[in-house]
Amino acid sequence: MGTLNQDLSLFNTLTREKEKFVPLEKGIVSMYCCGPTVYWYAHVGNFRTFLFEDMLRRVLEFNGFEVRHVMNITDVGHLTSDADTGEDRMEIGVRREGKSAWEIAEFYTRAFFEDAKRLNLLKPKVACRATDHIADMIELIRKMEGNGYIYIIDRGVYFDTSKMKDYGKLTGMDFESLNESLKAGARVEFDTQKRNITDFGVWHFSPKDRKRHMEWDSPWGVGFPGWHVECSAMGMKYLGLTFDIHCGGIDHIPIHHPNEMAQSEAATGKKLANYWLHAAFLVFGKGVRMGKSEGNIITVQNLIDEGFDPLAFRYLCLTAHYRSELVFTKESLQAAQNALFTLREHMQRLRENPEEEKGPSRKTEEYRKEFLEAINDDLNMPKALTFVWKLLREEKEVSDRDKYELLLEFDKIFALDLAKSIKKELPKEAEELIRKREEARKIKDWKTADRIREQLKASGVLIEDTPQGVKWRIEKR
Ligand code: AMP
Ligand code: ZN
Repeated sequence: MGTLNQDLSLFNTLTREKEKFVPLEKGIVSMYCCGPTVYWYAHVGNFRTFLFEDMLRRVLEFNGFEVRHVMNITDVGHLTSDADTGEDRMEIGVRREGKSAWEIAEFYTRAFFEDAKRLNLLKPKVACRATDHIADMIELIRKMEGNGYIYIIDRGVYFDTSKMKDYGKLTGMDFESLNESLKAGARVEFDTQKRNITDFGVWHFSPKDRKRHMEWDSPWGVGFPGWHVECSAMGMKYLGLTFDIHCGGIDHIPIHHPNEMAQSEAATGKKLANYWLHAAFLVFGKGVRMGKSEGNIITVQNLIDEGFDPLAFRYLCLTAHYRSELVFTKESLQAAQNALFTLREHMQRLRENPEEEKGPSRKTEEYRKEFLEAINDDLNMPKALTFVWKLLREEKEVSDRDKYELLLEFDKIFALDLAKSIKKELPKEAEELIRKREEARKIKDWKTADRIREQLKASGVLIEDTPQGVKWRIEKR
């Protein structure tokens, strides 16, 4: 961890400006990230957002801040339609797998954290499930009720957004224009009992004719919490009524985050968070978002099954700024993997051929400074990456040892396991083939030896016969 750096700027969706970051408490950052809805596997689009949040945390820590990172697990109440008319997404999992909602949540929460680990995501300091915080949510709704912000309709308890003067400020629109634009663009009709199209459920009633797997008593009737109220209740419970940073994907700007903001502020009279940060989508080609509802998802396991290192995806995410769309193609992922493997090879070479120690040069310090400036400029990772390649091309002014040390330091942000020894990665089958080739060479069966060499090459393993024996390296694929 470095010393406290005061020159970090972040783009705040709320003010639409890049602002100097100043936390509420010196040296400490409170950060809330909207987590996954655990009715299915998280896809790499979701992970683009979680990777952005991970990089943000790493940049804050690199600057010497202690980061109180909270992420929720949405295991109830996230409806299929943003207009509050659909069903609980957990029900989709229940129908698909014939298990209880509790089992679905348990399974996909576990799967989420396994994938997160494979992508080198730091574990949040608090990862909290919505279903463990129902009492906190009820308490929060009671406060909104006490302050006159809610009303009851057949479907449940609703929040009257017209009572929040600046509702929707995150979108940059006033209340009327936001309502008009939502009406115009509505894909589903909205409940006519709602007072405003922007109103949303804070507590949904259970259906009258059946028992849900997940339902609770409340002062208003048996049911389950609304998705937005979950984040408000857990965020404030773990980070205080006002915290520093709130993050999520760009899709949260028009509905989820304004709703979190409105109901929290209605209950407490205080601003919920100072900085609101959003990651742009991962897309296939122009405008085609990867999404569970779109039915076009790719998971981390899919990448592994196709022979990719999950960290190649992490590298790919670094190549685009978090506020720009990231186009996902197999070719771009392959290019990212090639770059990642080349970097690891460089690291190996730098480690194995250390030059004499010269002591850090002025140039080394320049690189360190420029790198810090890039990451502190609203997480400009593409720029930070260019310094890596530039550094590797440096011939005179930076020693191999310094390059190695500096790249290790940069890897605290990138988390690409740059120091991972590539030798360990020789697949078992390749080992076996190398052994067979040695046997063939011993009996001067050059034909077999050459055939095996070609076979190895096709699988990306290059070999070289040296007086010390066979040397191999894994070719970038
Ligand atoms: P969900 O599990 O649907 O609640 O989504 C988890 C997070 O992933 C949210 O912050 C979303 O905004 C984000 N997200 C969903 N789809 C994408 C995508 N295609 N690209 C980037 N982020 C996404
Ligand atoms: Zn949220």
